[in-house]
Amino acid sequence: MGAILDLAEQTWRGDGRQHPWRALNVLEEVAPRTWFASSFANMTVFDTDEGLLLVDPGAKNNAAQKHEQVRGVLDRPVHTVVYTHGHHDHVWGADLYQAEARERGWPQVRVVAHEAVIDRFERYTKTAGYNGIINIRQFRGGLGTPSWPTDHVRPDTTYRHDLELTLGGERFELHHARGETDDATWIYAADRDVLVTGDLFVWVAPNAGNPQKVQRHAGEWAVALRGMAATGAGMLLPGHGVPIVGAERVRQALEDTARYLESLEEQTLAAMNQGLPLDEVLQRVSPPADLLGRPYLQPVYDEPDFIVRNIWRLYGGWYDGIPSHLKPAPEADLATQVARIAGSPEALAGRAKALADADELSTACHLADWAWMAAPDDEAIRAIRGDIYARRAALERSTMAVGIYRTAAREMGVELEDEPTFRAQQRD
Ligand SMILES: [Zn+2]
Repeated sequence: MGAILDLAEQTWRGDGRQHPWRALNVLEEVAPRTWFASSFANMTVFDTDEGLLLVDPGAKNNAAQKHEQVRGVLDRPVHTVVYTHGHHDHVWGADLYQAEARERGWPQVRVVAHEAVIDRFERYTKTAGYNGIINIRQFRGGLGTPSWPTDHVRPDTTYRHDLELTLGGERFELHHARGETDDATWIYAADRDVLVTGDLFVWVAPNAGNPQKVQRHAGEWAVALRGMAATGAGMLLPGHGVPIVGAERVRQALEDTARYLESLEEQTLAAMNQGLPLDEVLQRVSPPADLLGRPYLQPVYDEPDFIVRNIWRLYGGWYDGIPSHLKPAPEADLATQVARIAGSPEALAGRAKALADADELSTACHLADWAWMAAPDDEAIRAIRGDIYARRAALERSTMAVGIYRTAAREMGVELEDEPTFRAQQRD
C-alpha cells in the first residue's frame, strides 16, 4: 500500500492526533488507472484510453506542483478537466494543461463544471476585496496581504442537472448538488466504482455554516450525500482528507454525514415553527450524540452552531427575533451606555478580564468589545481585549472561530505565531 492509502487506513481508525486535512503532497495510484493527489485541495486523475480526466487541477500555490506530479507518471493528453465547484483551492491549473496541449499539438482541453460556477466567478469579481480580506482572516488569522485573483479559466462546457461523460468507452456520471456551495458536482466513475465527492465530503463536520460566506444548503447537502451513498461505490475520493476504501465504510461515512445535517435541519425547523428566537434555537439544537465521536464529523473547520444559523437564514431571513436588533443603535453608542453603567470603560474591561479569568470567555468577549468601542485608543483596554481574544482562539477547535478570534487579537496588537488556522486541533 502507498502512503496515501496507509494514512487513509489510520485516519479511518480514528487516529485523532492529526488534523484530517494533513496533506502528503504526493500523487499515488489508489485504484487501477485512478490517481489521487493528496494536497490542499485534493486532485483526482482518471487515466482512460482517450486521455486523462482530471478533477480539480489545483490551487494557485500548488497547481504547478500537481502538473509536475502528473507528468512524472502519465505522459498522455488531458482530455477533460472537471471543477467540482468554484472554490479557489480547486479551480486553478487548467491553463497549464491547455498551454501544453497547444505546444504538443494535442487536442484542446475541455473544462467542465456546473453552470453556477460561472455565476460564482462573476460574484468573485464583484467581491474580490471582501474575499481577499476574509480569506486571510479565515486561514491566517489576519496575517498577510489580502489578494483575490480573478483570472479564472472559465468552464467551456456547463450543465444544469446531470451530465454523463464517456471517455475511452468508460462512463463518468456528473451530478449537480447544492451543499457547501450552489455549484457542486459529484462524480461517479461507474465502470471503476469510484466516487469523487469534491467538498461534499471532506472529513470534518460539514462546512454548511461558514460565518463569512454566502448561503449554504444543509438539507440539499444531505440529499446529495444520500444520492452518493446509493451508488454503493467501493471507494470515495474526497475534496480534502484521505480516501475511504470499501463500500461499507463509504456508505457509513456518507449516511452519517447526511443524518448529521438532516438532524440539525429538522431540529432547527421544529424550533422555528414554535416561534422561538434564534438565540433559543441555538441553545436548543445539537448534533446527534451518537455521531459526535466519528473521526469524519469533528467540528474542526466549521461548527454545528454556524450551520444552525445558516439554516435559520435560509428559511427565515436575518431577523433574529430580538426586536432591539431590528433597527439597532450603533454598537459604539450602546458601548458608551454600558460603560457608563459600569462606571467607566476601564471598569468594563476589568469585568471582562475577571470573566475571562473565570473561563466565561463568550461573555467576556462582549464586555471587551464594548469597553474597546467606548474607548478605542486606550492602550490598557486594547491589551485586555487582545489578550481575551488570544485566549479564546487558543481554546477553539474550528478554523472559522480560530481565524476570527486570532484576527481580533492581532488587531489589538497582540503578537501571535504565524500558524494556520487548521492546525492540529483534535485533542488527544
Ligand atoms: Zn475545498
